[in-house]
Amino acid sequence: TLDQAKLKAFENAAAGHDGVLSDESGEMIIKPCTDHEIAFYQESLHHHPKFYELMPLFMGTLQLGAPANVPDVTAPSEPADLTQDQKDKQLLHGQKIATETAIVLENLEHGFKKPNVLDLKLGALLYDPEQTKPEKAERLDKVAAETTSGSLNFRIAGMKVWNGKDYDVYDKFYGRKFNKDNIKDGFATFFSSLGAASRPDDARELLETILAEITKARHSLERSESRMYSASVLIVYEGDADALDTLMGNPPKTPRVDERAPTNFEIKKSQEEEDEDEEQPPVTHRVKMIDFAHAAWTPGKGRDENVIKGLKNVEDQMDVLIARFE
Ligand code: ADP
Ligand code: MN
Repeated sequence: TLDQAKLKAFENAAAGHDGVLSDESGEMIIKPCTDHEIAFYQESLHHHPKFYELMPLFMGTLQLGAPANVPDVTAPSEPADLTQDQKDKQLLHGQKIATETAIVLENLEHGFKKPNVLDLKLGALLYDPEQTKPEKAERLDKVAAETTSGSLNFRIAGMKVWNGKDYDVYDKFYGRKFNKDNIKDGFATFFSSLGAASRPDDARELLETILAEITKARHSLERSESRMYSASVLIVYEGDADALDTLMGNPPKTPRVDERAPTNFEIKKSQEEEDEDEEQPPVTHRVKMIDFAHAAWTPGKGRDENVIKGLKNVEDQMDVLIARFE
């Protein structure tokens, strides 16, 4: 159960609007969203089980209290009212969505010691042509034309990478600077800790597993009739080099001092504790599709080439990176 009073700001988003919350334990995120996105989660859960496997677990919805600090976009606002810091923030993040409904989702960053997170926004067409005002359409077409959205049907929407001391945060403008020939540098930056810390075989194995999951998403969409505008594939992997090493099955570098074997009582107790909290065991990575504000199942319309092409090009970039570990 969720205690609304104990929700906290989710500080770790790689991109997107402000206003995402997390529960006390960090297992769930609470994202203000449209009814349309909730309906898409419900429909996917019930009618598209294969694709649902590629989505964060849908845990329900929540009515948030009146969003007191959501800016009233209908009121004329004097830019002078805002401090420079507030203006920067508005430019950097989308504004909070003006809604009181939120979706409760599995937090894909949960369970990692230092999650590295990459948000890849999919598609060259980034809006539903039947539902979008010309001004917004023009604006999004312009961004697509100037970025790899236009050339590769995906772009880096944002990422954060643990550098061993703190996080390097790459905002949405970072990903807009790449072209199809140098986008590989963005992938190299995101996966840079693999080059430094772990063994090349492990790095390659992890990259290949991530690639396989992106391929799985593409295959699922190739068998579906859907339209997903501005959806993303979110890639998370363990950024803590020692934790990743251990997860990849390597013995710890520094042997533990206390080598006394655990007593039977201790073993039993720790097993009981594991049974009690149904915590998932830690994983090396997660790959999921997210952001379905403009997504729909569209029987009769054929497959979503706009997104399929993007996923294929992401796979090609993963291949380029994998080749560097061979
Ligand atoms: P929008 O872009 O419309 O604001 P998104 O669904 O893309 O909404 O979410 C914004 C950001 O929040 C994403 O870039 C991602 O970093 C983070 N995020 C979204 N869903 C999850 C999730 N289930 N677990 C962890 N982080 C998430
Ligand atoms: Mn998004």
